[in-house]
Amino acid sequence: MTADDVEQLVRRLLAEHVDDGETEFLGAQFDAGLARVDYPLDHGGLDADPALQDVIDTALDRVGRRYPWLRNPMGIGMCGPTIAARGTEEQKARFLRPIFTAEELWCQLFSEPGAGSDVAGLGTGAVRHGDQWVVNGQKIWTSLAHLAKWGLLLARTDPERPKHKGLTTFIIDMRQSGVEVRPIRSMAGASGFNEVFLTDAVVPDAMRVGEVGEGWRVANATLMNERVSIGSEVGPRGSGPIADVIAAWRVSAEQCPVRRDEVTRLWIDAELLRLGSLRAQAKRERGIPGPEGSVLKLLSGQVGQRCAELVVDLLGPRGGLLRGPYPTNVRDDGQAEAERLQDPVLVFIGSPGTTIAGGTNNIQKNILGERVLGLPREPGVDPNTPWSQIPRS
Ligand SMILES: Cc1cc2nc3c(=O)[nH]c(=O)nc-3n(C[C@H](O)[C@H](O)[C@H](O)COP(=O)(O)OP(=O)(O)OC[C@H]3O[C@@H](n4cnc5c(N)ncnc54)[C@H](O)[C@@H]3O)c2cc1C
Repeated sequence: MTADDVEQLVRRLLAEHVDDGETEFLGAQFDAGLARVDYPLDHGGLDADPALQDVIDTALDRVGRRYPWLRNPMGIGMCGPTIAARGTEEQKARFLRPIFTAEELWCQLFSEPGAGSDVAGLGTGAVRHGDQWVVNGQKIWTSLAHLAKWGLLLARTDPERPKHKGLTTFIIDMRQSGVEVRPIRSMAGASGFNEVFLTDAVVPDAMRVGEVGEGWRVANATLMNERVSIGSEVGPRGSGPIADVIAAWRVSAEQCPVRRDEVTRLWIDAELLRLGSLRAQAKRERGIPGPEGSVLKLLSGQVGQRCAELVVDLLGPRGGLLRGPYPTNVRDDGQAEAERLQDPVLVFIGSPGTTIAGGTNNIQKNILGERVLGLPREPGVDPNTPWSQIPRS
C-alpha cells in the first residue's frame, strides 16, 4: 500500500459520501479501512504502515472532515487502541466501529479512592462464577462515566498474588443495575467526572481483555496510549495555550521586561514541546517506541499550567473575572468542556488537572528516572508480597 493508493481511497470516500452527516461519514470512513491505517483489514484499517495515516488526516482536514476527537476521547484515545491490540476478534468486530463513530462512548475505570498513583494496588474485586464475573468495589475520577455505554475496567481477580499479578481487564456494560454513577463537581464548576459504585455488577467472561492475571500489562498499554494522547497533539507553531499567552500579552497593561522574559521563556518551552511531539509522532509512525509518552505528558502539563497562570497575571485585575456565569450543575462531555474552557479563569482553575490525569507529574518523573535513566527504584513493598498481605489504611 502506497501513499497514492491511500490518497485514492480517501478521494473515493469523499466523492461517495459528500452529503453524509458526521456519524454516517465516520462509519463509511471506518468501513473503507481509513479509520486507522495500521488497524487490521475489516477492523477499520488497511494493515498498512502507520506513517500513511498522515495522508488520510491531511486530506480530510483539507475538506473540513477533521476527526472529532472530543466526542469520544476515552474511547478513541485509550480503550479502542487497547481492544485493537489485546482484544479478541469478536471484541474488535463488536466495539471498534461504534468507538470510531462515537455512537458508543467509553470510560476508563482504573483509579480508586485508595489507588490512584499506585493503581496496581486497587481493591475492586472480580470473582468468577462459571462463564461470568461478579464485580464489587468503587472507582473514582471516572471521566465521562455518566455518558458512557462501556467501561474498560481493571479489577483484582486474585488477592493472593502480588499486586501487579492478580489483576485482570474487562469491558463492563455501564448501563446495568449494579453500576451506580455519581457526579463529582470540580472547582471549575462543572462535573465531567464521577464516582462509580459497582455492586454485584456482572461481566461475561467473553468481555475479558487479555488473560486472567494479565491486567497490569493490558492497563499499561492503555496508560501509554493515554499519555501519548494527552501529551502529543501537534498544532502549528504558536497555537494552543501559548496563543492565549500572546493574545493576553498584546492587551496587557504589564508589558514590563520581567513579564516579557516570562512570555519568552514559555514560548521557547511551548515550541520545545511542539517539536518534541513532532519527533515522537515521527518515531511512532516508524514503529520506534521511546520514552516520549512520559516526557511529553510531563512537559505538556507543566507548559499548560504555566500558560494558564501567566494569562491571568497578564490580564491584571480583569484576569480574575469570569466572562460568563459560574457554571453550576453542568454535566460536561468532552466537547462542552472544550467550549467552556474558552474562559481564562476556568482554564486557570482547571489547569492543575492536566498535571494529575493520566499519572501525576511526580509519577512521570519516577517512570523516567527508573525506566529510562536506570536510577535505583524508590523503596517500597516487596513486589512478591501477596496483595492481601499489604497493609492498607
Ligand atoms: C481531570 C482528571 C480526569 C481523570 N480521569 C480519570 C479517568 O477517566 N479514569 C481513571 O481511572 N482515573 C482518572 N483520573 C484519576 C487520575 O488518574 C488520578 O487522579 C491520578 O493517577 C493520581 O491519583 P490520586 O488522585 O489518587 O493521587 P495520589 O496517588 O494520592 O497522589 C497524591 C500526591 O502524591 C504524589 N505521589 C503519589 N505517589 C508518589 C510516588 N510514588 N512518588 C512521588 N510522588 C507520589 C502524587 O504525585 C500526588 O502529588 C482523572 C484525574 C483527573 C485530575
